Formats: sequence, structure tokens, C-alpha cells
Amino acid sequence: MNLKASHTKSYIKQALNNDVLRAAVDKATRTAVKKRADKVDAIPYWEELRYRAHVIKRDVIEHLDTYLQQFETQAQANGIKVHWAIDAAEARKIIHAIAVKNNVKTVVKSKSLTTEEIHLNTFLMDRDIQALETDLGEYIVQLLDHIPSHLTAPALHLSRQDIGKLFHEKLGVDYTENPNELLSIARARLRKKFLTADMGISGVNFAIAESGCLTIVENEANARLTIGLPKVHIAVMGIEKLLPSFRELAVFLKLLAPSATGQKQTVYVNIIGGPLHTLLGEGPEQVHVILLDNGRSKILADPQLRETLFCIRCGACLNACPIYQQVGGHAYGWVYMGPIGATLIPQYLGVKEGRYAPFVSSLCGACFHACPVRIDIPHHLLKLRHKVVESGHSKAIEKIGIKAWAFLARYPMLYRVATWFPGKVQKLYKKPFPVPGYTKERAVGLFDGKGFRRRYLDNEKAKGAKNSKLI
Ligand code: SF4
Repeated sequence: MNLKASHTKSYIKQALNNDVLRAAVDKATRTAVKKRADKVDAIPYWEELRYRAHVIKRDVIEHLDTYLQQFETQAQANGIKVHWAIDAAEARKIIHAIAVKNNVKTVVKSKSLTTEEIHLNTFLMDRDIQALETDLGEYIVQLLDHIPSHLTAPALHLSRQDIGKLFHEKLGVDYTENPNELLSIARARLRKKFLTADMGISGVNFAIAESGCLTIVENEANARLTIGLPKVHIAVMGIEKLLPSFRELAVFLKLLAPSATGQKQTVYVNIIGGPLHTLLGEGPEQVHVILLDNGRSKILADPQLRETLFCIRCGACLNACPIYQQVGGHAYGWVYMGPIGATLIPQYLGVKEGRYAPFVSSLCGACFHACPVRIDIPHHLLKLRHKVVESGHSKAIEKIGIKAWAFLARYPMLYRVATWFPGKVQKLYKKPFPVPGYTKERAVGLFDGKGFRRRYLDNEKAKGAKNSKLI
């Protein structure tokens, strides 16, 4: 499935006409919001944790060069091979070279948005390397040839019935919509693959600069099997995923699970210190980490927008967003979706391709309140809207409207006539003027013909009269 951020408007229309999708997304996000609230309410120092996380991430992003160098040195000392990739093409090339060198034919993957970002699966398949997703949600969307529709719950847009039908059609099993039976079917198929795979590919949640370790959190143990069983493990991470030390990791682990899945803690926290442990005799023979830039340095250059790099991909802002709740993740047209996706899309893909994304928001602020790292998403969306307008990619009707208003505002008499006139016409028309895409779903009142200026003067007059009575 190939999506394009520039087609966002048509995806939104499709999503709004899809009742099954809307019901599934609505149910899933409502449950997630409630579960998160229950866990967060039980942590009295939640707000302090959010502040702390924000400060830690600010320090990391502002000193990213130092932390990256420290991480590289420590990781190499641990026996991890560190690779730098400037963009998606270079990351794919590195992965392919490692695969060829090790005669890799089959790959198991654990959930990784970074590998979605570089379109790794298609690339590997085109080179006769079978890449199998092993996270249950990812496995389902891979069977469907979809991309994830949520940062932490890739198949959130599907109902149990959808998944039952999919397994019946693609895996040839009897139809069932029982979640436990569906889980068992997937597990039975995936287990065999772990044992025979030549290589495991994962993402990284947090990389620890002080110790050169990688941290991957999960609930299904598929990441543990992906990184532990095959002889080669490649971890692909964005360069922003660093933390100074394990002390800071404790803060993020406390924040991540309640925000992401409404759990106290994720079931597994995997910490990778290097390849095959000589004493324990377990683990892969090779561990590679790819530090991916792919546009992150450009984001880093903007002193305000760099805050969007603080994101730990928990998905809480998606669940809280009234727009996401209606349209789901595919409507955004890229691998990152929801409020944070709306900020990342124009930054990664360019203002022209991502021109609609910053407008897919009501700016209500729910995303900011849900964000465990206190990223001021509404503020960044506004800044990106400015960028879209400045680059000349706003809608023609908006440009004309603003120009007309700017002209009228310079001539008070003309302005008064222009604001008085619609009220008079509407009195004859007797119903609100239709505004395409707005009045279709909303009740709008009639103009009273007074306009803002007249109302303001009337209010002032009324206030004056009231005050003089008091005196
Ligand atoms: S912006 Fe905040 S709430 Fe949204 S995914 Fe990132 S960390 Fe989570």
C-alpha cells in the first residue's frame, strides 16, 4: 500500500465515508484514552515526570552531536558495529550489504516505524529476501498489504471480524473472531519463522549514550526472539533516540507504558549490550546499529521545531486527538500520523508534499496535554501553517479572501459597507450562506446585520450606562 501525504484530503473523505473504520478507530481510541487516564491518575507525580522528560530531551537534542559520539564509542567498545546513514537509500544499502555478506534469505522483524520510514520490506522483497513482521498488529497489516494506522497499534483500524476474514482468506484457517484463537493462529505460524530466520531487524526505543546499549520495549516477546535467535541483528534508529544514561531511562520507562498502552509497565524491557555473550553463550553473533538521519538534522536546525524530535512515539496524542478519532491513521498519508505526524510530515517530506498535514487539527490542545514529553504540538502546527502560507502553497480561495480582507481593512467606510451588506442580503435569503465543507456538517446562525464593530460599540455603550448607574 503506497500512500501520499499530498492526497490527504481525499483519504479523509474516504475515511469519513467508511463506517466500519470509524467505529473501530472510535472504540479503540476511547478505550486507550480511558486506560491511560486510569494509570496516569494513579501516579501523583505524573506532571513532574513530564517536565523532567522534557528537560532531558531538550538537553539531548541540543547536545546531540556529543551524545552521538559518546554512544558510538561505547557501542563499538561493546562490539556493536555502528553505521551512519544520511538518508533512507543509504540505510537500505547498508542493510542489504550486511544481508548479502551473511547470505541472508529470511528476515524476522519486530515493530519499527523507522524501518517503515525507509520502506525496508518492499526493498528486501524486491531483492529476494523474505521479510516477515512478527508483532501481531504488524503481521496483520503486512498480510493486508497495509501500512500501520497507529504508532503503537498498527491494526487499530480493523475489527475482529476483519482480522478473522483476513486469516481465513490468507492463511486458509477456519473463520474465527475469537481474539485468543486469532492470536494462537498467528503465534503458531510465527514461532517457526524465528527458529529458521537468518537475520533479525528491529527498531530502538532508547539508546544509552553512557553505556552504548540499546533498549527495546515490547509486550509480545517477539522483539526478544527477533534480536536473540538469528545470528545477525540489525537495529535501525533515528539519531534522536538517545538518552544520556540509565538514570534517564527510568523516567521514560515510567512515562511510556501508561501513555502508550495504559499499562503500568511494558511486559519486556530488552537491553542489548552487544553481540554473543562469551560467558552466557547466547545472543546473535553480530549486532549492527544504523544511525539514521533522513531529514532529522534539518529539523534540528530550527530552534523551535526541533522540539518535535523529543517524540518517543507513544501514540497518546493520536488517541486524544478528535480528528484522529474520526479518520484514523491512513488519512495522513504517511508512516507518522496523528498530531505529531501532522508536524513531522511537512518537515520530513517538504512543505509542498505535506501542505495539508498541519491543517488536519482543531488546535484544541488535547495532544499537548496527553504528551508525556510535553511537546507543544499546537504551537508547532501553527508555525508549520505559516510556513505553508509563506511558501505559497495555501489554497487559492484563502489567498483571495485574506487579500480582500486586507484591502477592506485599510478603508473603514468600505469595510463597514462590506460587513453590513451580507446581513441585509441574508435577511432576504432567510438562511445561512452555504460554505463548502463547513456548513454541510454544522449548524450556523444567521448574521444579525450588525457586524463586530457595531456590537462592540453597543457593548461599550451598555457598559457605560451600567457604570454610570453604579456611580
Ligand atoms: S508527540 Fe508526545 S504524545 Fe505524541 S507520540 Fe510523540 S511522545 Fe507520544
